[in-house]
Amino acid sequence: MNSTDCTLPGLHHVTAITADAQKNIHFYCNVLALRLVKLTVNFDDPASYHLYYGDELGRPGTVLTFFAWPGAARGRTGPPQVTATAFSVPTDAMDYWVRRLAAHGVESQLGSRRFGEPVLTFLDPDGMPLELIGANVSANFTAKPWVAQSVPEPMAICGIHSVTLSERKTDATSQLLTDVMKYQIVGSEDNRLRYQAGTNDHGPGTIVDLVHTPDIRHGTLGAGVVHHVAFRTPDDAQQGAWREKIAAHYPHVSPVMDRCYFHSIYFREPGGVLFEIATVQPGFTADQAVAELGKKLMLPPWLETQRVEIEQALPPIQLPR
Ligand code: ZN
Repeated sequence: MNSTDCTLPGLHHVTAITADAQKNIHFYCNVLALRLVKLTVNFDDPASYHLYYGDELGRPGTVLTFFAWPGAARGRTGPPQVTATAFSVPTDAMDYWVRRLAAHGVESQLGSRRFGEPVLTFLDPDGMPLELIGANVSANFTAKPWVAQSVPEPMAICGIHSVTLSERKTDATSQLLTDVMKYQIVGSEDNRLRYQAGTNDHGPGTIVDLVHTPDIRHGTLGAGVVHHVAFRTPDDAQQGAWREKIAAHYPHVSPVMDRCYFHSIYFREPGGVLFEIATVQPGFTADQAVAELGKKLMLPPWLETQRVEIEQALPPIQLPR
């Protein structure tokens, strides 16, 4: 495939770290009303859970995932990191979310508008910064809210809106986003530049904000911190083209890794954030029917023979009903 034919229509997922899988499940399923679409282990560390939340199917662009490291020390949010993950909600749902979060004991701030849209900020149980942004969710948007939950459909979260990357130096990252990844600069506010995916698949998560924070203390990895951010590309052929294209500009692009539900390559972007490019195919229904998603621990075929040992090593957790 000619590398000019490969597309990155938006984010695939954001992956962060939690110190407490049970509290994490409660917060994302019962408070934010996302669906647990996959319960599995970290393929690189099968003694720990990997939790995936998203819409009904875990469509790319709706997915937030966590490595559960029991008792992990808190990390520090700061550059170079994804310092906030934002979800879209309908514009008139902001007050509903302020009340709902308060009812669950979660403090939130309805701050100033960002590029004209209202932003509600709060922290998850590990202290990870989250945002709900009141956005005009387009009618042909492919993300479907998970409605078998306590939030009325017109108020529900509808995929990832954007991520905020905070960096001490932004020029090289900006160049990567525009010249290589074909994102377009669509706005600027204070020290924040907004980038929009250059191609469109009507899915969510099309925005990346790059914030220049030269004076903020470096972040550290730990609970409550984003580990990496993944962009989506449709299939293996396009991913192969991306791998060649990225490797021509940046060293140390990983080989393709089989994540069962997608295939991934990883590289550290010049500002220091770990980027991943993940395929849309095959998706979370690769090993479970839609109705069964997230209802039991799934293991990749190469770990299935060790299921008994793996299950014994994992802390017991209660799944959402
Ligand atoms: Zn990932």
